[in-house]
Amino acid sequence: MKSKGSVYLVGAGPGDAGLLTLRGAELLRLADVIIYDLLVNPALLKFARADAEIISRGKRTEFSQEQISELLIAKAREGKTVVRLKGGDPYIFGRGGEEAEALAAAKIAFEVVPGVTSVIAAPNYAGIPLTHRDHCSSFTVFTGHENPDDAKTNLRYEEIAKIPGTKVVLMGMEKLADWTKSLIAHGMSPATPVAVVQSGTLGKQKSVSGTLATIAKLVAEKKIVPPALTVIGDVVKLREKLNWAEQRPLFGKRIVVTRSRGQAVKFLNKLSELGADVLEIPAVKGVDPDNKQDFIDALLALNTYDWLVFTSANGVTVFFDLFFRRFQDLRDIGGAKIAAVGPATAAKLRELHLQVDLMPEEFIGRKIAEKFAKHSSIENSKIALLRAEKANPDLPRALEEMGAIVDDIGLYKTVAETADFFGAAENFREHGADWITFTSGSTVEHFHMRFDLPKLSKKFPQLKLASIGPETSKAITALGLKPAVEAKEHTTAGLLAAILKAAKA
Ligand code: SAH
Repeated sequence: MKSKGSVYLVGAGPGDAGLLTLRGAELLRLADVIIYDLLVNPALLKFARADAEIISRGKRTEFSQEQISELLIAKAREGKTVVRLKGGDPYIFGRGGEEAEALAAAKIAFEVVPGVTSVIAAPNYAGIPLTHRDHCSSFTVFTGHENPDDAKTNLRYEEIAKIPGTKVVLMGMEKLADWTKSLIAHGMSPATPVAVVQSGTLGKQKSVSGTLATIAKLVAEKKIVPPALTVIGDVVKLREKLNWAEQRPLFGKRIVVTRSRGQAVKFLNKLSELGADVLEIPAVKGVDPDNKQDFIDALLALNTYDWLVFTSANGVTVFFDLFFRRFQDLRDIGGAKIAAVGPATAAKLRELHLQVDLMPEEFIGRKIAEKFAKHSSIENSKIALLRAEKANPDLPRALEEMGAIVDDIGLYKTVAETADFFGAAENFREHGADWITFTSGSTVEHFHMRFDLPKLSKKFPQLKLASIGPETSKAITALGLKPAVEAKEHTTAGLLAAILKAAKA
């Protein structure tokens, strides 16, 4: 019989996916069922197993607290490993205590994994340390959700106003004007520094600072909405010196990444690290080619080729996946020379300890063929061109014109991606972005089919297009648009450099 399942109440951290704990990530990988809240960054689901059951508690699927507890118990009784992902730390205002009590009462095994709470993380990302020797030696956390005039409130503002040190107020944005007034009425100086931080630690973080007397007005002007918290006290003054997160070069910039999912990880991480609010909207995905036979034939005859030519990092990955399904030994690749178009492709081959004999930098067919000719004559050479099915015919044509015998072998087929991961596409349709990054002509074409680029550019005039190189720019110009920047080095690092330069200017 299957043993009874367990429930893990896991703190997801304040938003920034990097602030999940190692234990949290480990449990997400194990979970049969994951139940998460609106406050949780859905990007954390990247750790989930592909077959995990994922239940979101969001705008459209509102469960009561009792229903959540019942669901946790029911799933555990089915023998499942259940992860209940909660924003920040499960025991800070998240009703995690109630969920744990319900589990204990039902005699379900449970573990509670602490999380980085927004209480400390959101102020940090706004440049505010909660304690500092020169300013205070304590901090107090309370909720602003309760009405200060309500006789039933548990909060005594007359006492809170007298506590020295920093104060952090969770929730209660809608009552901000009331409780700031109440604190002043009970003796706090109206000039006490205050900051409010919305969506702290995320790329879309917004913050504003003022004083107890002015903050309510400033929050309304800046249209700050929940989730947001308030920090009160002298430490707020340190923002001017310590605001590392908001000073990052791409802070607050909304940047769309259209590259296919698995391939974009490093680029996405780098953008987030630089402070961008990244929207992951892959335009394409790779699937099996229509014609698989060509590849199978080529695999069995690898030693008859003089050259193996790779044109993308993804092509390298797919090739070796398929290769090692057939062979145990890398030596079965034979003695052909290896060419990689572009530095990212070459880097991927070097990761596998394969030296690259030739690396054309440019993606234009004729230029690549010229590079070959400079290296050595390719007349009568047999070339395996290992790339996407039905890719641009210029390259094989140019090589054939130089006398080579070319097998153009489709490793994968590029098709439109239509899934909306984490609601990014919907968010983009509604709010637009500052940049869309394109890493190939096909991402431009498929993205355009889904969103109508010229129409988008009219609707969101601030929208700029970033192109990885001339072929991609060509696809953009074909739509009657112009890339705002084109990368000098045709890699995502080059693309990033171009955006950074434009952002600085
Ligand atoms: N358990 C959570 C808090 C849940 S209560 C934690 O430990 O962080 C929800 C409140 O937390 C929100 O109304 C807001 O005041 C605060 N909050 C949560 N995430 C936040 C964030 N990223 N930025 C600012 N405030 C946040």
